[in-house]
Amino acid sequence: MRYAENILGTIGNTPLVKLNKLTSDLPCLVLAKYETFNPGNSVKDRMALQMIEDAEAAGLLKPGGTIVEATSGNTGMGLALAATIKGYRLICVISDKQSVEKIDILKAMGSEVHVCPTNVEPSDPRSYYATAKRLAKETPNAWYVNQYDNPSNTKAHYLSTGPEIWEQTDGKITHFVVGVGTGGTISGVGKFLKEKNPDIKVWGVDTYGSVFKKYHETGVFDENEIYPYITEGIGEDILPENVDFDIIDGFVKVTDKDAAIYTRRLAREEAMFLGNSAGAAIKGLLQLKEHFTKDDVVVVLFHDHGSRYVGKMFNDDWMREKGFLD
Ligand code: PMP
Repeated sequence: MRYAENILGTIGNTPLVKLNKLTSDLPCLVLAKYETFNPGNSVKDRMALQMIEDAEAAGLLKPGGTIVEATSGNTGMGLALAATIKGYRLICVISDKQSVEKIDILKAMGSEVHVCPTNVEPSDPRSYYATAKRLAKETPNAWYVNQYDNPSNTKAHYLSTGPEIWEQTDGKITHFVVGVGTGGTISGVGKFLKEKNPDIKVWGVDTYGSVFKKYHETGVFDENEIYPYITEGIGEDILPENVDFDIIDGFVKVTDKDAAIYTRRLAREEAMFLGNSAGAAIKGLLQLKEHFTKDDVVVVLFHDHGSRYVGKMFNDDWMREKGFLD
């Protein structure tokens, strides 16, 4: 008999899938690391489990304890899986721009959810960062995960996602393209791949309204770069410690409209029902066309599943309301 001891045993070892139609104008092979095959339907299951196990080992998370995190939903789902199996209480703090589906899913998985306003400064006591910190302080026997600055986030991708991509491409990968939020995915995968082959290029996909691209190019944290945007999962108004700018060769920015349209095109042209950051990632990759030649093997990572966006990018009325559809 072959079975996992519990659902956590099914995290990782996701497939690599060739893109065909959307990438037909590119000279190279484009492969998608398809993270929705994780049990929580996103890449975040990997880092959630790693962060919890490292906190247990360090004595920060004790039996019967409470896990508190500020999460856009996917990390919350990963934490919920591990919290349920391991017997912890979970409190997720989420911003009000996230889809209703993400909030309902977290509740379905047994998490308590606090919703905070999006358009306030990170230092504002109402912000989702500040609220999570306060709840962690006020709750006895609580541990604040802090995925932005927690090194176990990057470590999960260095130990699992990176090696899987290297092995699945027989070491032939030449470029890695991925959306950047906390930075854990790009930094962990990028570090592993560059240790194997320093010639591999690592590209981050950013969004308009986020600080990453300008900071990477100039070293200046420019507050004028910060404004509200619609794309979910990528871009930040802070510099998380998990973003290792040294291993990133460049950033490319994708508009909200293009990210939404390409999320829909992935579904209709590649039969890949994926989240909004996958649309941003594939459009960012297409914008990098001039960097690729015929022998290149380009891997793009798709973070999460389309079901969480049915009321948004996959809804025609929502798309028209935002001016993304004629
Ligand atoms: N896409 C989605 C849907 C996400 O939830 C996240 C995590 N914020 C990312 C992309 C970015 O991944 P990372 O935090 O590892 O940079």
